[in-house]
Amino acid sequence: MDKSVVTKNYMTIQRQIFALQDKWKKMMDPNDIKIELTREMMAEGIPAIESAEIAFDLPLYLQLITEISTILINNKPDLKFMLEKMSGQLDADTAQKWIEHALSWDYRYFNDFAQEHGIDDWIPYFIAETALRPYIQAAAEKVQHQLHPVIPDSACPVCCEPIRLATLEEDGKKVIRCPRCHAHWPARRLKCSLCGCSDHTKLDYLTIEGDAISQIQVCNECRGYIKIVDIRQLIEKPSTSLLDLLSLHLDLVAQENGYYPDSAKIEQYIN
Ligand SMILES: [Zn+2]
Ligand SMILES: [Zn+2]
Repeated sequence: MDKSVVTKNYMTIQRQIFALQDKWKKMMDPNDIKIELTREMMAEGIPAIESAEIAFDLPLYLQLITEISTILINNKPDLKFMLEKMSGQLDADTAQKWIEHALSWDYRYFNDFAQEHGIDDWIPYFIAETALRPYIQAAAEKVQHQLHPVIPDSACPVCCEPIRLATLEEDGKKVIRCPRCHAHWPARRLKCSLCGCSDHTKLDYLTIEGDAISQIQVCNECRGYIKIVDIRQLIEKPSTSLLDLLSLHLDLVAQENGYYPDSAKIEQYIN
């Protein structure tokens, strides 16, 4: 894989954030999360996260935000002023609102928050989403055993993130992996995992020079794509979040060729 599309500093920040999210997820008590995913929900395309009831410990959530901010400041000291300004606005009430609005992809709320407090637009949403992920990932673990088989869809049945990544594992099995909640499920190799099209004249593969372990499966029925990484050839298996980041160059190639991950599902759930 080619890592050159993101800077070394950005990669360092993300690796530290992924490690922190993983630590946080492991600290959580699964009993604090209630979530269900029925076959009916999957058939209707209702993500499991819609049913989730998570008992957030607000001081702990705020502590996670502080730790994320510290990672950013340590690697990008010019963010210190903005992040301290943001932290100054965060009390338990605001934290509760952040959780609710991040769960419903309410970009507008975070944009307004940024403008109201004179903070760069991207910061509040980035922080809120980053802090939410360990909770979403812990919730996804609770329904993971129900993810077989999954009806082809353009979005993750647990968290609604657009589907874009799969791995090839033992015996050449194709496994779809969600970079946001880490849910994963098996899929047919010669089938579009987004729309279910299995017409071989409509499915194609894009390969990348110098990257022997990755390919992009594209579908001319739905114009979607999925990055497929053969992780059997990797000695150290990266986490799904990291794999998504390491394969960012594949997203660029797919999109340059006119294929897109489907974001219509998310739009449907925004507010
Ligand atoms: Zn997901
Ligand atoms: Zn398709």
